[in-house]
Amino acid sequence: MIDVLFEINGWRVNPDSLGHVLGKSVLRTIRTSMRRRLHSVRCPDHGSAPTIVVRGPRLGDLSWEVTGCCQKLIEVVQRQLMGPQEIEHPTTVP
Ligand SMILES: [Zn+2]
Repeated sequence: MIDVLFEINGWRVNPDSLGHVLGKSVLRTIRTSMRRRLHSVRCPDHGSAPTIVVRGPRLGDLSWEVTGCCQKLIEVVQRQLMGPQEIEHPTTVP
């Protein structure tokens, strides 16, 4: 299971215990989609799973960051999360 952690405005937030109903559903949706996209990702060298930290100043302005055992794992995760977007929006700048 991939760990997905949330930090909003510097505070560690647990979606399951968040009182804010809309926020809870937003964070749970992010967590589910991250886990779905990364469920099979393991470090090719160490076999460990990554941890994703989603943080931002508020719920509507979040970005994600990967932590893991080594740079190789981080690159694998970034490829996994970015790849499809690059295929949908190919850059044809000469
Ligand atoms: Zn590793």
